[in-house]
Order: sequence, then C-alpha cells, then structure tokens
Amino acid sequence: MRVVNEPLIGVLALQGDVREHLRMLTEAGARATAVRRPHELDDLDGLVIPGGESTTIIRLADTFELTEPLRKRLADGLPAFGTCAGMIMLADRIVDGTLGQQTFGGMDITVRRNAFGRQIDSFEADVELAGIPDYHALFIRAPWVEAVGPGAEVLGRVGSGPAAGRIVAVRDGTRLATSFHPEITHDSRVHALFVAMVKGNL
Ligand code: GLN
Repeated sequence: MRVVNEPLIGVLALQGDVREHLRMLTEAGARATAVRRPHELDDLDGLVIPGGESTTIIRLADTFELTEPLRKRLADGLPAFGTCAGMIMLADRIVDGTLGQQTFGGMDITVRRNAFGRQIDSFEADVELAGIPDYHALFIRAPWVEAVGPGAEVLGRVGSGPAAGRIVAVRDGTRLATSFHPEITHDSRVHALFVAMVKGNL
C-alpha cells in the first residue's frame, strides 16, 4: 500500500461546511484544500464530501462539470469521506431519493435519505463507533445506512433512544461515510481516522 506522509485532502466546495472540514483535516495532520474545478481533483490523495442537500450537490457538480471526473477518480481508487449528504453521494444505492436521483457512488452500501423522519430536523446521540470510544454525534436531517454489501463494514451504530442500532458509520476500503456531522464538533477523531486511512496506516 502507498504511504503518504502529509496527504493533500480536498473538500468538495459546492455546498456545506467546507471551512469546518478544512480546519478538522488540518488539525488531523493533512494538507487541506477546497475543490471546485475538475483539474483540482488531479493532485488529491483523498476527498471529503460535506453535507448539504444531495439533490443540490449533484446538480452543482453537473454544472461545474465535476460529476464525471469525480466518478472517474473514485473508480481509480481515490480515498473519500462523506458526511450526511456526502454519505448519500458516495452510496452505490439510495432509498427515498427523488425520482432517478444520481450519486457519485463508490461504496457498496444502500443509504436511506431523511431516514430519521423529515420532521426531525436535528438531534444529538451517542454513537458506538469502532476504535473511537465515547463519541457524541450531531445529526441534521440525516440518512442512515439501510444495508451494507459484502465489500463494506459497519463502523458505528446509534447507541440509544428510538433509533438505537441504526447504522450511521461505514467503511468500504479507503472510503468512509458517516450520517452525522463530525466537522461541527470539537472532536477531530473521525477526521483523524480518515487521514490515517489516506496515509495507508489503517
Ligand atoms: N437530507 C439531506 C439530503 O438528503 C442531507 C442532510 C445533510 O447533509 N445535513 O441530501
């Protein structure tokens, strides 16, 4: 496996918490850069896809002519980390999308949009996360992972409450996805996990 010491990690800057992700990645020891143009994908060792609205993200990606170059980089093995809508964008299959809703794909998972209920705008919950003890997560109109294909593994589930046991963190090779928003906490451990995955340490 290729080992990269100070990886360059892009944050897809079409929508969402771009600045917060950049800060977390820097804190976790990566070089971080916002990505909006196709050629900016070229030098990346990894990519973060922030939350927002997945239907808007795909529309903007099409407008910026990023969809196909990004799919190609993902198909070539670019490590990626999607949060919330970013998780939807990395899913090979989605449930409750709009008619014909497209994703970038790259993870062998089925993700349900707005899974916790449309009326539940946001909530906090403890998540049982592999390798990251005592993790407290923030969810905003979040999806959950409905099914995990043989290539992917479950990393985290909601710990208690009505949604206890729901899958909210997954990994598929060098791809990571969370239903929650680690970038708006003060806890950079999930970003550190992704940086370690990009470095080839994990
Ligand atoms: N509900 C949004 C979607 O379906 C995701 C919400 C978020 O990213 N905070 O795209």
